[in-house]
Amino acid sequence: MARSYVIVGNGPAGVSAGEAIRRRDPSGNVLIVGDEKLGFYSRPGLAYLLTGTVPESHLFSRPESEYRKHGLRRVVGRATRIDPKGHRIETQAGPAIAYDRLLLAPGARALKPDVPGMDLDGVVTLDNLEDARRILKFARRTNAAVVVGGGITALELAEGLAAQGVTTHYLLRKDRYWGNVLDPQESALVESRLEAEGIRLHRHSDVAVVVGRGGKVNGVELKDGSRLEAGMVAVAIGIQPRLELALAAGLTCDRGIWTDEFFRTSDPDIYAAGDVAEVYDPGTGRRVLDSLWSIAIDQGRAAGANMAGAGEPYQRKPPFNVTRIGGLTTTLIGAVGTGQEDGDLVALARGDSEAWRQQADAFTVESEANLSRVRVLVGERSLLGAVVMGDQALSRPLQDLIRDQVDILPFRQQLLQSPRELPNVLSSAWKDVYARR
Ligand SMILES: Cc1cc2nc3c(=O)[nH]c(=O)nc-3n(C[C@H](O)[C@H](O)[C@H](O)COP(=O)(O)OP(=O)(O)OC[C@H]3O[C@@H](n4cnc5c(N)ncnc54)[C@H](O)[C@@H]3O)c2cc1C
Repeated sequence: MARSYVIVGNGPAGVSAGEAIRRRDPSGNVLIVGDEKLGFYSRPGLAYLLTGTVPESHLFSRPESEYRKHGLRRVVGRATRIDPKGHRIETQAGPAIAYDRLLLAPGARALKPDVPGMDLDGVVTLDNLEDARRILKFARRTNAAVVVGGGITALELAEGLAAQGVTTHYLLRKDRYWGNVLDPQESALVESRLEAEGIRLHRHSDVAVVVGRGGKVNGVELKDGSRLEAGMVAVAIGIQPRLELALAAGLTCDRGIWTDEFFRTSDPDIYAAGDVAEVYDPGTGRRVLDSLWSIAIDQGRAAGANMAGAGEPYQRKPPFNVTRIGGLTTTLIGAVGTGQEDGDLVALARGDSEAWRQQADAFTVESEANLSRVRVLVGERSLLGAVVMGDQALSRPLQDLIRDQVDILPFRQQLLQSPRELPNVLSSAWKDVYARR
């Protein structure tokens, strides 16, 4: 009899799992339950919507016909309960749905700081397209906004609001931006770009109270007693995986839903992938959380294949992201952490990986020219991580060399001895290695 697969979540993890199931099991029934009416769109693209760089229509990369092409059924509705013994899920969309194998891919939601006033009209977070639309609406009727938080999303909010002509105050709890991932020069580069865009940076600043009038945001009171007038407060202090369904079903969870390297949870017929999953990495023996689009796709594919019987353990690649930070195209790969605390984030941010925060046992080599900067973490036998800001010529070579753990002994000494030559040494090493493959 044909197997029934049910997937909760119509994001990249859920959809790529559906396609992977279809590839291995042509006769199985695959149903995706997603609570967003709008269909499938790019979440990283929301930043470009806020800055007005792309219209909304450009975010929708997958037409409904793609689901039909892969034989995937989709219903719009919220999954509300799992009955693991009965192998059924309840949804707001209609009667309970039976499954043989279930995938949980509901993603994560933004956290809010525990300060008074967070429920006022005008306090916003950025999880989805509805939020982006709301932010743009507020931006049209607000002169000033305060942005609180760290990592990529806080910056995207600040840059988006500034691009909409809103006077934007960006509060940093410590002395610099994203201190546990970027080094001081990288933070300074980003901060100078933000200031050039007209964003007002307030270092060593933190919100004590969001002040309201008539239920609407009117400003913020800072911990030092000063006050900023603003009609909007945008918050990005980190995300919380959506664990409600899993916890109520008795699945083992910690920061995310625990899975093994096959994406199986503590119930052998329930799998989890994407932002919600805390996945076992056999390489390090640790469970890791990521919030990256490409990783959600990889995990969804691997989970779907395993649900359909592949039995293949997940091979975790060093996480990478190519994004814009302070208007500079930036690639982050592998372990690049500085070992510092980041007061602006209380949890993993979006477009972020726990692996980046790790401080590698490595030498750091860096090279800087104009508005571009490359920092590479050089281990004993391989490169462990890199940050490439501005000129992206080394982005692809570094992604390849780090992902494939290429043996660096032939050029390691040269790298360490002449950092200025870093771009040349890496480019020619990359060409040598990949010309031979
Ligand atoms: C503003 C923003 C910027 C980002 N920037 C980057 C970036 O620069 N680079 C990068 O790599 N990544 C970025 N990300 C992160 C990336 O988008 C996520 O890692 C990725 O979308 C996770 O995929 P997912 O399938 O696990 O979850 P999601 O994409 O969150 O999809 C989960 C879906 O499940 C739905 N759902 C939740 N609960 C239920 C339920 N009970 N029933 C039915 N449906 C449910 C949700 O509404 C959602 O539609 C960004 C994300 C955001 C929001």
